[in-house]
Amino acid sequence: MSSNSLYLVAIIAFANFLSTQGYICNTPDEWLFPTNNGTRSFRPWTKWPGGVVKYEFHSSLSANDRTEVQKAFNEYHQKTCIRFVARSPGEAAYVSIEVDNEVCGVANLCRTGGYQFARFGGSCRTSNVMVHELGHSLCMGHEQSRPDRDNFIHFPGCAANDIPGKDTSNDVLNSMYDFASQMHYQCYWCLGGYPRNTNVEKCGSDVTPGLSVLDANKLNEYYDCGGCHSYRFRNFQLLSAADRSALLPGGSDPYVSGPTYVCRGLHPSGDIIPGVFNIHSSTCYVSYGNVEVALKAGDALTNPKGVGFSWVQRPGTYIPSNAIAGGRTRQGETLYIGRSQISVNGQIATVPGKIHANFPGYAYFSYNGKEYKVTSFEILVCN
Ligand SMILES: [Zn+2]
Repeated sequence: MSSNSLYLVAIIAFANFLSTQGYICNTPDEWLFPTNNGTRSFRPWTKWPGGVVKYEFHSSLSANDRTEVQKAFNEYHQKTCIRFVARSPGEAAYVSIEVDNEVCGVANLCRTGGYQFARFGGSCRTSNVMVHELGHSLCMGHEQSRPDRDNFIHFPGCAANDIPGKDTSNDVLNSMYDFASQMHYQCYWCLGGYPRNTNVEKCGSDVTPGLSVLDANKLNEYYDCGGCHSYRFRNFQLLSAADRSALLPGGSDPYVSGPTYVCRGLHPSGDIIPGVFNIHSSTCYVSYGNVEVALKAGDALTNPKGVGFSWVQRPGTYIPSNAIAGGRTRQGETLYIGRSQISVNGQIATVPGKIHANFPGYAYFSYNGKEYKVTSFEILVCN
């Protein structure tokens, strides 16, 4: 795993695309290219120290543009420890936020050390396009260019020139493929590919008007965020000894020795669903469609910095602002992490499960092959 880059974007593939297609305005697409103005060469793959990005509003921005950019900043400020801070005079490294109506969006990748830009234009002067561009500023590449993307999308009927290259040096932090990523192009359009999972109908900004749950997880990991952003979802097939000792206890099961833990798995429906992790069998049990589903691939929730996460009794029919987002449906609805006591044959198990953002009065748990829909449950929050 590369230590200093979350993604390396396939610059060359995009340069080729640019040369053959030219710019297309008013599409959700954008193109990346390295800055090479004068003597400054592109110096890629550098993080912003402490996750603090210095920015400047360019004079090309309208008042409405500034509002959209501020909304994009808020996405990062709410979901990650990344902070966008206005540049002080003389500070060398900064992102100039600009309008360029020749493109939908374009940005330099990572921190270049000098002037760099994040631009949107045409009908793309929206907060979600700016979230995407600023994702590039923070070193994120395109989800549909991941090395493993062929397992999830394909490009039938697309001209060869329209098929983006895979980023073989792309460090995806062992994360699940995320159709809902703001860094994923819209699907059913060549550059975004066609999902192999035919249950998945939408990708990228069509799903999430901002950072997806997994986008935020990846940024928080890449920038080593602390506090309430310090929890980490780890691929449970690849748990290190340190990961195992940091697993967040989720409950107990009379038929399982030791605690059970919190996990999330990619369900065949396309949902990423929080559930209960059995460490002995490396299985994530989730509830979906009235049944329990055993998933052999997914993440376990860890608390490596020992921050105070706790379970609180359902506070009413709303999601507390400090609740931990565990997953999402394929339509982009956030799934929070709950737990409840399930009594079966006189035995009581405490089982983690899912809470739908749009139906916070209920939670769903799976146990012993069945799904339980309950109104009395706890929700995982950060104190
Ligand atoms: Zn992009």
